[in-house]
Amino acid sequence: MKAIRIHEPGDIRVLRYEEVDIPEPGVGEVRVRLRAAGVNHRDIWVRQGNFGPMAEPVIPGSDGAGEVDAIGAGVRRWSVGQKVVINPGLACGTCSACLSGDHPACQSFSIYNGTYAEYAVVPEENVVSMPGGLTFAEAASIGVPYVTAEDFLMRSRALPGQTLLLWGATGGLGVATLQLAKLRGMRVIAVTRNAARSEKLRQYGADEVAVIGGEKTVVETVSALTGGQGADIVVDSVGQASFPQSLDAVRRGGVIVTVGSTTGGQVSFELGQLFRSRITLLGAFMGSGSILPRILPLFSRGVLVPVIDSTYPLEQADQAHEQMENHGVFGKIILTM
Ligand SMILES: [Zn+2]
Repeated sequence: MKAIRIHEPGDIRVLRYEEVDIPEPGVGEVRVRLRAAGVNHRDIWVRQGNFGPMAEPVIPGSDGAGEVDAIGAGVRRWSVGQKVVINPGLACGTCSACLSGDHPACQSFSIYNGTYAEYAVVPEENVVSMPGGLTFAEAASIGVPYVTAEDFLMRSRALPGQTLLLWGATGGLGVATLQLAKLRGMRVIAVTRNAARSEKLRQYGADEVAVIGGEKTVVETVSALTGGQGADIVVDSVGQASFPQSLDAVRRGGVIVTVGSTTGGQVSFELGQLFRSRITLLGAFMGSGSILPRILPLFSRGVLVPVIDSTYPLEQADQAHEQMENHGVFGKIILTM
């Protein structure tokens, strides 16, 4: 089969389009003939080696959709030909965290790598039936961003009428957070550095748009829109460049969700700013395995809308990464195979 493999960390040139053996499903595993893979910012971190050294070549990619093509011994839930979506959180399934449904708290939790390929083998628990009315590309755009956003909105006890400040609103995670927050009846202030994307953010539900480099700072905009109180929840995937402003933009007793660090992860702040204002700092990394099967039907019913920026054939994964790193996106980039 064809696959993109990374042999050593680096820039987009380390994404090699290669011929590799088709993997065989073991006990309790299914093989999926992938038709589309979603590109996540996480794939760039994998490519850069941020998850540690590579003992062997890595096929990146966590999100994917396709058809079950072979099943291993003991698999009862799936049969060949069924259309499925990869549910990319891998956990032991037997510890107390897993039994309570909080899979990312499992000691052995990790996120699947391997969807930049024509075939992927995953445990049978890690595929979900693909609902009708969705294309493979649309189905592959949902996993990581929507599961992550739904998980942190639940954990931060988001309520209707609350104000959510959303950094990086046009990215895959941003658009997912925007839609899920609106579904909860929240008021969303979306932040973008690109004023030309403001109208589109409003189309997808943003109540207000704060443009970085605009007349007012983001903190001033939030203050003006909340009567000086600040946002109830701040969602920050930008990190170094935004975090000090997140601290200034959140209200007393509010929540800052840290869910990525696209501009770097080193921040320093006065702890008193956190405890005196009774701010909760909430780290988010994927979510429970039960979320994807629950939210997928919302897409086929049109309650949520997949937002695809652009589509590349698998062999142009390097161009997809180049776009994500240097030119930005509105929603998701998809690879097809
Ligand atoms: Zn576990």
